[in-house]
Amino acid sequence: MLLKLIAGLNDRDNRFEAAKNLAGYFGCSYLFVFIIDQEIGVLLPAPGFPQTLPDGCAWQSFINNCPNDGCYSGSLPFPEKQMVLPAIGISGPENSIIILLGGNPSAGEVAPLKTISPILISLFTQESIHSAVKTKVAFAEKTVAKAEKLASTIDVMRTHLKDALIQKEKDKKAIEDLMEKKDEFMNVASHELKTPITTLKAYLQVLQKMVPATALSSAGDFINKANKQIKKLTDLVDDLLDVNKIQAGRMVYQFSDINLVTLIEEIVEQTQMTTLTHRIVLQNNSSVIISGERNRLEQVLGNFLSNAIKYSPNASEVVVKSELTNKEVKVSVRDFGIGIPLDEQEHIFDRFYRVNESSRKFSGLGLGLFISAEIIKKHGGTIGVESNGAGSEFYFTMPLVKVVD
Ligand code: ATP
Ligand code: MG
Repeated sequence: MLLKLIAGLNDRDNRFEAAKNLAGYFGCSYLFVFIIDQEIGVLLPAPGFPQTLPDGCAWQSFINNCPNDGCYSGSLPFPEKQMVLPAIGISGPENSIIILLGGNPSAGEVAPLKTISPILISLFTQESIHSAVKTKVAFAEKTVAKAEKLASTIDVMRTHLKDALIQKEKDKKAIEDLMEKKDEFMNVASHELKTPITTLKAYLQVLQKMVPATALSSAGDFINKANKQIKKLTDLVDDLLDVNKIQAGRMVYQFSDINLVTLIEEIVEQTQMTTLTHRIVLQNNSSVIISGERNRLEQVLGNFLSNAIKYSPNASEVVVKSELTNKEVKVSVRDFGIGIPLDEQEHIFDRFYRVNESSRKFSGLGLGLFISAEIIKKHGGTIGVESNGAGSEFYFTMPLVKVVD
């Protein structure tokens, strides 16, 4: 019974009720419960208990000496009337609790401290140790259970992760095998296509010689058209072969000094012959020597020019410009065509990438710029585009070897 009453003091919400019951048990007229706030080390009346003694005297003045933990047993002097109030202190699991059991000081009563304090102290001590141990064991059990649960979750996750990694490796290998097979197929197919194209070219040359001069106007027209188509086919197959070489790291470059002016002039002249719709204008063609592989740089400029013509069907002009700075030369091709949306610009140098809009209207594989970017990179230069909707400007820069006067 007593143990139950004391244990009730640990229940914060019903502490006042528990204290009243305990006082009743000992036949005391009043009882106060204080809690020592361990953090600030001050003795505070527990919530729900009066802040002063029945005659209005403050507690704090004579209980300041109470210890913050451990048990305290003894009498406290009652002010003014020099009465003695019995008091015991006990350290609970959360806060220290001081209980003051009293008679009625003004009537000269004194509580039977001598008889009750040893019982209370021992009960409190047992109870507090017991409950502290119980709390700690419960906490430890909870923690162990949590840790076990966590460990088993980690185990499951580890198994999932392992499975996922194995699957990922398998998928990666399958994709690599597939890519390898695709590259191999493209390589074989491109080489296979090259042979009949070369034969076709040879037949057309023979045919051109055989056709009598009088028939040349109409027959020759067909032969020219056939030649144009064969040129397209050749370029396409060459692009596919180049891509395969790039992918396999087998693109070989033979560098020599090149006069950029003549290179630009030649490629502009050649391209001009393939178009009746566009006039290619050459501006500021600076005379400089650069180091590189002529055929490959011609290929880049050729790609820029063919794109400029293809993607500006309603325009009539393309501008080619070269500009010098201290260390490099910048060659640009400007058109007045459909332009390229800003969010597409970073992708157009990727392999097989085509802007949606244009791929529906214009033929192509999306390889020209990919190959050009690779070539310029291998020449130590940069490649880029500027497009604001009213046409595009493609450019590359190259390190200078020297400026020719
Ligand atoms: P091909 O392999 O025959 O060159 P393609 O011209 O489609 O085909 P790229 O030259 O690599 O391929 O160009 C990639 C994409 O960039 C094009 O499909 C087109 O959408 C866009 N593009 C390139 N040049 C221009 C340009 N001058 N104006 C507008 N869009 C362009
Ligand atoms: Mg192109």
